[in-house]
Amino acid sequence: MAERRTCKHCKQVFCPRPQNPDQRYCSEPACQRARKRIWQQQKLLTDSDYQANQSAAQRCWQEKNPDYWQEYRKRNPDYVDRNRERQRERNRRRREQDTGLVPIAKMDASMAERSINPGRYLLSRVDSGLIAKMDTLIVEINVVSGG
Ligand SMILES: [Zn+2]
Repeated sequence: MAERRTCKHCKQVFCPRPQNPDQRYCSEPACQRARKRIWQQQKLLTDSDYQANQSAAQRCWQEKNPDYWQEYRKRNPDYVDRNRERQRERNRRRREQDTGLVPIAKMDASMAERSINPGRYLLSRVDSGLIAKMDTLIVEINVVSGG
C-alpha cells in the first residue's frame, strides 16, 4: 500500500508523489500556496542574498506602482472595512489591557523581564490601520540592556 501522510496545511490524508518522497503538503492549490509562503518566510530568515533580492524587487515594484495601495483600497472598500474593523478590535483589546479591565495572561518572571525575545522578526508597515503587505521588512531585535 502506498504511504499516507497528513497534509501540514489542510490536515487531510494524502499519498506523497513517488518523485517527491519528502512531500509534506497535499496538491491542493491552497496547500501549495501555504507551502510556498512558508518556504519564502524561511528563506527570508536564513538567506541574506534572497532577502536582499526580495527587498530590491519590492522597492523596484513600489517605485513603478507608487499608488498601488491607495488604488487597491479604492477598488476594494470591503478590504478597507474589514481592516478597519480588525484595527478597532485590536485597539479595543489594547485599551482593555492598558486600563487593566481584562487581566493580561500571567507571565513568569523571566518573561516579564524580557517581554520580547531577541531574534529576527518580520516587520510590516501599518499605514492608517492598514497593513501593507508589500512593505514587510526583516528586523533584528537584540536586548541591549538586561534591565
Ligand atoms: Zn492540504
